[in-house]
Amino acid sequence: MSNHKVVCWDCGCDVDDPFTNICPRCGGLLTVKMDLEKVKEKKPTDLAKEPIGVWRYADFLPVDKKHAVSIKEGGTPLYSTKALGAEIGIPDLFVKYEGANPTGSFKDRGMTVGVSHAVELGVPTVGCASTGNTSASLAAYAAKAGLKCAVFLPSGKVAAGKLAQAMFFGAKVLSIDGNFDDALALARKMAEERKIYLLNSINPFRPEGQKSVLFEIMDQLQYDVPDRIILPVGNAANIWAIYKAITELKEVGWIDKMPMLTGIQAEGASPIASAFAAKTNDFVAEENPETIATAIRIGNPISGRKALKAIYDTGGYSTTVTDAEIIAAQKLLGRREGVCVEPASAASVAGAKKLREMGIIDRDEKVVCICTGNGLKDPDTIINNCEPIIKCANSVEAVENILN
Ligand SMILES: *Cc1c(COP(=O)(O)O)cnc(C)c1O
Repeated sequence: MSNHKVVCWDCGCDVDDPFTNICPRCGGLLTVKMDLEKVKEKKPTDLAKEPIGVWRYADFLPVDKKHAVSIKEGGTPLYSTKALGAEIGIPDLFVKYEGANPTGSFKDRGMTVGVSHAVELGVPTVGCASTGNTSASLAAYAAKAGLKCAVFLPSGKVAAGKLAQAMFFGAKVLSIDGNFDDALALARKMAEERKIYLLNSINPFRPEGQKSVLFEIMDQLQYDVPDRIILPVGNAANIWAIYKAITELKEVGWIDKMPMLTGIQAEGASPIASAFAAKTNDFVAEENPETIATAIRIGNPISGRKALKAIYDTGGYSTTVTDAEIIAAQKLLGRREGVCVEPASAASVAGAKKLREMGIIDRDEKVVCICTGNGLKDPDTIINNCEPIIKCANSVEAVENILN
């Protein structure tokens, strides 16, 4: 007996075709409906004997654990960031460091489930469009599963580390004329013609794996629900996945309160923040998104409407930060806490600082910032924004002069 079904998020009808990513009836977004009746008899501590990582939460996943294609994703640290918190006026601040995943971003959480499902379906070739991290992750899991893989990247604009990973794991790396939204349109066309099995986050199985970041945060905080969770929003699947995890934990009775989900966007790519400011349930796509935070350089977020529901339903918030604020927050996290994240991830910290200054976040809130990816993904941005290396003569005296 299957523990789930795929349904249309918009009209609610059952969707039986495993190769479609939109509702055949109304064109709406798809989602997985989990049957959690059996889980209601369990307690969170019942999972404690399972190894840490995404598959610990198999009760909440729509793929049998026996079929898991895994590189030991999840199980990332939750840092109590006292120095950073003191600096920005939120003493009870935590950072969930998703850069510690196998390929260096949270995308691995969704990809382990998405690729395991692709193997269940028996497809030969998987593919995705990507600003970088999705392709790095898919390429790794496709390699592990022995599947062919094609990734569609916007020409230029992909951070060096991400590009290197996709090439390294043996994917066919295709550079598409245009931005991410253009690359995604082409990947979707390929999927419709059944040339690839699409593993963008429009595929409803990926957010299912991404729910695990919320389950882990709850475990790490011993089910003391934080007041607020802050994360960057690009294509908007992650904030939706976290919301879905919260509603499922409520459904099984493991939590009774919802953290305020707070989505941060870059000023130059902010359809969700704009929709939130206008108090609308839908967003207006932006033509030419631009930001140093390439992972959230997205003008037409696939899961945008789901993200807005997640924000409104939890009493959350959405706002923008500038590229300068992102770089400042990235450095602050490095220099106060020894944690290196990529620019998109630093948007969460920049957002925490801004919303504290605006008075939206209270001083006594328990806040978790999700830092979605590893700083080494984008070494060029770091090198361009740090003090230059110091040319130094080969003598003790010369070094002393510099240190003093
Ligand atoms: C994919 C990604 C995001 C954006 O996540 P969405 O689910 O598209 O909103 C943010 N940060 C990093 C590092 C990412 O790789």
